Amino acid sequence: MAMIACAECGKSISDRADACPQCGCPVGNLHRDLPGVQTTQKTSKPLKFLMLLALLAMFAGCIGYSSNRSDHELGGGGWLLLCLFGFASLVILQFVRWWHHG
Ligand SMILES: [Zn+2]
Repeated sequence: MAMIACAECGKSISDRADACPQCGCPVGNLHRDLPGVQTTQKTSKPLKFLMLLALLAMFAGCIGYSSNRSDHELGGGGWLLLCLFGFASLVILQFVRWWHHG
């Protein structure tokens, strides 16, 4: 038999008891709602998605720029901008990731 702290009042009670004798809080809840380990994966997932988008924009811009440069003098500028935008986003996102992880 182990003693556990009541979730409501903090009084130590038997883990076999159905409810806390002090406040009546059901003990069954304690086993299910243990203080969960909060992972940072939830917050970093959108960041990874954005990094992927930035990477894609950078590659698309590079490919578009190199293939359009010879044909269209004006068309290359937009692709180059997209490439630079992707690169800048990647750098910023890397910085944000570094900032969050310390
Ligand atoms: Zn209690």
